Amino acid sequence: MGAQFGRKEIKLALIIQKYGGTSVRDVGRLQQVARGIVEVRESGNDVVVVVSAMAGETNRLLQLAHQITDAPNTRELDVILATGEQVAIGLLSLGIQASGARARSFTGTQVRILTDNVHTRARIVNIDVERIRHALREGEVAIVAGFQGVNAEEEVTTLGRGGSDLTAVALAAALNADMCEIYTDVEGVYTADPGMVPTARKLSRITYEEMIEIASLGAKVLQPRAVEYAKNYNVSIHVRSSFTKSPGTLVVQEDQDMERVMVSGIAYNKNEAKITITRVVDRPGIAAKLFGNVADAGVVVDMIVQNISQDGHTDISFTVSRVDFHKAKELVQGVAKEIGADQVLGDDRIAKVSIVGLGMRTHSGVAAKMFRALAAEQINIMMISTSEIKVSCVIDERHTERAVRVLHDAFELQTEPPIGE
Ligand code: ADP
Ligand code: ASP
Ligand code: MG
Repeated sequence: MGAQFGRKEIKLALIIQKYGGTSVRDVGRLQQVARGIVEVRESGNDVVVVVSAMAGETNRLLQLAHQITDAPNTRELDVILATGEQVAIGLLSLGIQASGARARSFTGTQVRILTDNVHTRARIVNIDVERIRHALREGEVAIVAGFQGVNAEEEVTTLGRGGSDLTAVALAAALNADMCEIYTDVEGVYTADPGMVPTARKLSRITYEEMIEIASLGAKVLQPRAVEYAKNYNVSIHVRSSFTKSPGTLVVQEDQDMERVMVSGIAYNKNEAKITITRVVDRPGIAAKLFGNVADAGVVVDMIVQNISQDGHTDISFTVSRVDFHKAKELVQGVAKEIGADQVLGDDRIAKVSIVGLGMRTHSGVAAKMFRALAAEQINIMMISTSEIKVSCVIDERHTERAVRVLHDAFELQTEPPIGE
């Protein structure tokens, strides 16, 4: 049973629809969403809806906790954060009932979305679909709270920022749904953030691999873990707008007739910071000690660059998430003394801009083209990292927007690539 683009064409399918915070930002929007859901239900489909907290709510809750302490206990943080989605499911269920259909809301605990114990970034271990199936059999629309689960000790957990996407994908896999539709405030996945690049082009399809990279490198539109999950369980994702009915972007497995463009998209991330340790003695075991300490403190390191050694000394730079900047710097300062390094320098005003594309596997010169485009704009590159399908550069944060636009132009992403390139 192939689910098609466009709500009216889908007949007797099981559809998962996920609505992000902006889609339910106020009661008016929420009622509009409710009416759309009732339409799909009335054309005979089974519908399971995943909803996020109303726009801004998760940030508001986080701020409340941070007004009390800089390092909130993560169990309590999850108790607090999960309320955002609980309000949204109740309201949406009321909205659907008011529009004349039957609906029932479920928290993560009520469904039993079982996770591990890692509060604030828990992993889903198992989903019991029985209560949802029962609701569907009763002719109800099942409304499930995104972003939250429960661990084996019955503690509320959350799945990391943007985690409602993961709830939707995991439910689609568990229920063997025909389609997982992610409704958001843009019409799909674009060649760059459409909020930053006016000429960004909507992609009709993108592969899981590229989407995982673009999401991990900063594009908010899908949570990286959700895309990984979708790839592993072969869940078809359709990213589309909750404001218009235009077809969005399908996230799919790579296939033969896909365009093999060099670069499919540009991403940026302003949430990182850079730490440099100067004049480190160049001998075995130093990097192990340095990064061992950082890792033991639970800080994730992204890029690492070590200079060539001069007179037995070298400089090492690395990036971490901006929230870990001070903690990481303090840790490194401790080790720097021990290993006799000169200075520890920090910069939390950096950005990472990246180009992503499957075509890089077979095209050469892609990185050079990126560096030339940045150089022409006098944008200095502080660090570089590459993988099979991406190149990332760390630059001064002030140049982010200009860098993203210039790269978008350089790779001509505003124009549809010719078939068979
Ligand atoms: P939701 O609240 O629906 O989960 P998000 O804010 O998490 O929505 O994600 C949607 C946002 O992602 C868009 O408003 C857009 O600014 C941003 N975004 C960044 N990069 C891209 C991209 N390449 N394509 C589409 N949107 C992007
Ligand atoms: N409300 C959560 C967040 O803001 C989850 C989500 O929106 O997907 O991160
Ligand atoms: Mg989101």
